[in-house]
Amino acid sequence: MSAAVTSVVDRAEAHYRDLALAGVRRWKEATGGLAIGYLPIWAPREMLHAQGVLPVGLMGGGEDVEIIRGDAFYQSYICHLPRSTVELGLGGQLDPLDGLLFPAICDVIRNLSGVWQLQFPGKLVRYLDVPQNFDPEIGGHFLRQELESLAAELAERGARPLEAEALRASLAAYNANRARVRALYALREREPWKVPTWELYLIVRAGLVLPVEEFDRLLDDYAAAVTADEERRPMDQARVLVVGSFCEQPPLGLIKTLERSGCYIVDDDFVQIHRFLRSDIPLDGDPLANLVTAFLDDAVESPTRFCGTDRKAEAMVERTRACRAEGVVFCAPSFCDPALLDQPMAVEAVESIGVPWTAFKYAENTGQFQVIREQAGTFADSIKLWSNP
Ligand code: SF4
Repeated sequence: MSAAVTSVVDRAEAHYRDLALAGVRRWKEATGGLAIGYLPIWAPREMLHAQGVLPVGLMGGGEDVEIIRGDAFYQSYICHLPRSTVELGLGGQLDPLDGLLFPAICDVIRNLSGVWQLQFPGKLVRYLDVPQNFDPEIGGHFLRQELESLAAELAERGARPLEAEALRASLAAYNANRARVRALYALREREPWKVPTWELYLIVRAGLVLPVEEFDRLLDDYAAAVTADEERRPMDQARVLVVGSFCEQPPLGLIKTLERSGCYIVDDDFVQIHRFLRSDIPLDGDPLANLVTAFLDDAVESPTRFCGTDRKAEAMVERTRACRAEGVVFCAPSFCDPALLDQPMAVEAVESIGVPWTAFKYAENTGQFQVIREQAGTFADSIKLWSNP
């Protein structure tokens, strides 16, 4: 790895490991603004930005947090993310946040919002009840009301009132940011040896805790460094699509293990908020209406959204073909209902186009990767031996 790449990746990893949110604390001291956390997988970051609020993405505690108190809040058959989030909250690491948003993606997240209300009564706690009806007159109307009400609550706590011009500028800022992210993912799809996924993952994780403008600089620096690194050469690895990891994240070591076992990850669901919307949000007209419409019409097909079995199967096929995956790895958190309930349909879709697949589950603090290494290595070898006669 070149010195330039090492330097950018180290910067990103420092943000990834900043569980006590020291960077957020510094931003607050410098600006006097509010910082609001959000759980996966979508939050109206553009609106928060327009109100001078720093949106801070939380994805659990990962492998660096020992769970002691968090386990007392959840049964053993619940995923790991809520336990580590509670652990971070009770441990004071999330103190720099003035509140938390809990987007409606599953019962666990909803219940976590209740836990938060009881444990942190002084903070803004909002269950962000995003619609499952995508009719603009129904779901759109509802989401707009939710966002207006959230904007008003933020303003009551000291944020700037929401204004159209500021929101338009924030939509533009996030459009530009998403374009950079898309370009980097496209580079990885074309030349995965240049953009190892474990590096890309650290970059996009850092983007959850950085102001969007600073995230832009990190993306630019990384893209420039990997493009200039001529030592990175293609290897005989299998191109795989990794699906199911849109909420609780696998440990970094698991992503490295997949790549070291002979897989090029050419598309994935990690840190999905950066690619939750497929395209730019229009800037003309009413910017809040445009933000709502983007959520309704432009989001990726996710297990957390109801769009019908056929559409999800089509989307799975489109995704597999678009990234020219030779195999699909279903890699979901243990006990993740949305991911695991969709998996049989996704498997059927992948089989219908003759693409091999394999599956395993993880927890964010999984520490043993040998079994996964053997499974993924065997999968990659089988693709190389038998899928490309
Ligand atoms: S990992 Fe799955 S079950 Fe757990 S909070 Fe996230 S979406 Fe819900």
